Amino acid sequence: VSDNNKNYVLWAINEIKNREGNMKNIHELDFLKENIDDLKKQGVYRKLPILEGANDAEIILNGKKVINLSSNNYLGLANHPRLKKAAIAAVEKYGVGAGAVRTIVGNMDIHEELEKKLAEFKREEAVMVYQSGFNCNAGTIQAITEKGDLIISDSLNHASIIDGVRLSRADRAVFEHSNMEDLERVLKEKRDNFKNCLIITDGVFSMDGDLAKLPEIVELAEKYNCMTYVDDAHGSGVLGESGRGTVDHFGLHGRVDFSIGTLSKAIGVIGGYVAGKAVSKDWLSHRGRPILFSTALPPAAVGAIIESVSMLMESTEYTDRLWDNAKFFKEKLGKLGFDTGKSETPITPVIIGEEARAMEFSKKLFENGVYVSAIVFPTVPKGTGRVRCMVTAGHTKEQLERAVDTFEKVGKEMGLIK
Ligand code: PMP
Repeated sequence: VSDNNKNYVLWAINEIKNREGNMKNIHELDFLKENIDDLKKQGVYRKLPILEGANDAEIILNGKKVINLSSNNYLGLANHPRLKKAAIAAVEKYGVGAGAVRTIVGNMDIHEELEKKLAEFKREEAVMVYQSGFNCNAGTIQAITEKGDLIISDSLNHASIIDGVRLSRADRAVFEHSNMEDLERVLKEKRDNFKNCLIITDGVFSMDGDLAKLPEIVELAEKYNCMTYVDDAHGSGVLGESGRGTVDHFGLHGRVDFSIGTLSKAIGVIGGYVAGKAVSKDWLSHRGRPILFSTALPPAAVGAIIESVSMLMESTEYTDRLWDNAKFFKEKLGKLGFDTGKSETPITPVIIGEEARAMEFSKKLFENGVYVSAIVFPTVPKGTGRVRCMVTAGHTKEQLERAVDTFEKVGKEMGLIK
């Protein structure tokens, strides 16, 4: 064997060994283990908390009974007897699964009934329902924009909007949160270079509870010939007449092109939707990828949602109680000297500042029987760490009083209030 051949054989053996080594590491997912070690080093690693039973105002979480101030179950409907009964009735009639995507054979009459009901509720021509609010943003934005278009998005828009925008082939620009001068600057600079332009905003911003300046946004959109897209996940079932949402709150019916809602928060079940013109629904049934490629909502969910929306249309009992509870809780925390930020909705942030202090506050509240999650950088700006309280219609005044007492006790122990 020549030296050359010998060297080649040695090189080949070595190469095979290396590749085997790499293969082994790949399948042991060492790269993920390293990522997780990084999270641990940053102090942001966590296990998913485990809830035993329904997502009510008082819950057993990780084996401990606590007042629940962290859910999006705004109206307390997620475990309501009327919704459960409607879900069971739908299961009896339609089974547990839709069996296919809607464009093939998964579009049951109950899905159509739900969309009619939602359109009536939202006072819009038509509604297209998706499997979740996340899915709705991911599927809609890319379907209504294309190369040569421009999307302008508020800097604090929800992650599902950010992902939805990423899936679009349009150009994108971001304006400073709720800063109308900045929005107009972007419009002046860029609008003329593009065919269609879509302005996207959350209706209610989930970390601070502030409202979008929707009337101004709509006016700018009209002035610069742009479409408007409002994600009202935290406004639907909360704001406006009987919870019709932010568009209704501002009296802007017919002037917002795409009004997005979720069925998983105030409505209490699961799903998302676009409310707007009939032509949008028609187009989304051809190009909304989650409609085309993901199975339709299960009948139980659809039955429960129809019941939930019917309840909102029948009476304002739940929305009234939500606002009453939120006002009660906010006032009490304010009197104690906590900074509850600039929220205009039931979302009640209690701003602490330093990240570690916010985390510690949340941990101590939990030990004392109140569950309220800490929200820290990068979800909110550095130095504005907070706990975010979600008061619901399902809380009793007694539970809220107990929660306030716990805030006072822990707040004083930690020197957050005097
Ligand atoms: N948009 C916003 C503003 C949200 O807060 C959320 C939920 N966190 C979603 C969309 C997603 O909704 P869903 O939970 O129904 O997927």
